Amino acid sequence: MSNLGYDDTMYISGNPYRVHDSSRPQPRVVTPGDLPGATPSDATILFDGTDLSEWSKLDGSEPNWIVENGYMKVHPGGGNIRTTQAFGSCQLHLEFAAPAEIKGEGQGRGNSGVFLMQKYEIQVLDNYENPTYADGLCGAIYGQCPPLVNACRKPGEWSSYDIIWEAPVFHEGELLKPAYVTLLMNGILLHHRKALLGPTQHCVTTHYEPHSATGPLMLQDHGDKVRFRNIWYRPLTAYDHA
Ligand code: MG
Repeated sequence: MSNLGYDDTMYISGNPYRVHDSSRPQPRVVTPGDLPGATPSDATILFDGTDLSEWSKLDGSEPNWIVENGYMKVHPGGGNIRTTQAFGSCQLHLEFAAPAEIKGEGQGRGNSGVFLMQKYEIQVLDNYENPTYADGLCGAIYGQCPPLVNACRKPGEWSSYDIIWEAPVFHEGELLKPAYVTLLMNGILLHHRKALLGPTQHCVTTHYEPHSATGPLMLQDHGDKVRFRNIWYRPLTAYDHA
């Protein structure tokens, strides 16, 4: 298991592993069962398969991702997209699928990402029989914490994320409470109220800077034609306190 990641990056704070450490132990593979995913009656729908009215490019202009057959698909080069509304702590559901045709390897295969508050990435990647550094696997808190297991389905098959997101809390420029994330992929637990160290980064460590209590949800254009569908959230305002 060499050359999966990096051997010369900085050590993650309070951790025996470097950022994207090649030698960080790999999660075991778990094969998921069939998935539910219906929208609860109190959810805010961000994408129901018909249009991108709830989304924009980062500069606020209209996104050019492709909408067809009940899903949206990354338009490579079209850039990241984000929701027009901002929100904080929430329960978020979405479904995604890597391209059925296998192209590339490691981080170059079915890469996208779900950025809570436009800053904190839960990695989306095709890791079905496709290894990469552990803190960059599908479901990883990118550059910080690997998923508990690898719950990837085969390329082209739909997967679900159910995310419980607790936004970080700042007071007078100080961090009162870090962000916490709980994540189930295809009904399998990948993180249980895991504290984030700060916004997710590539190749470097991170720390918190004060920011607003809400932010848009962002989906990443990493050049791969990843598809998304059935995106909704329920705000969890009870968690927006220290
Ligand atoms: Mg990504």
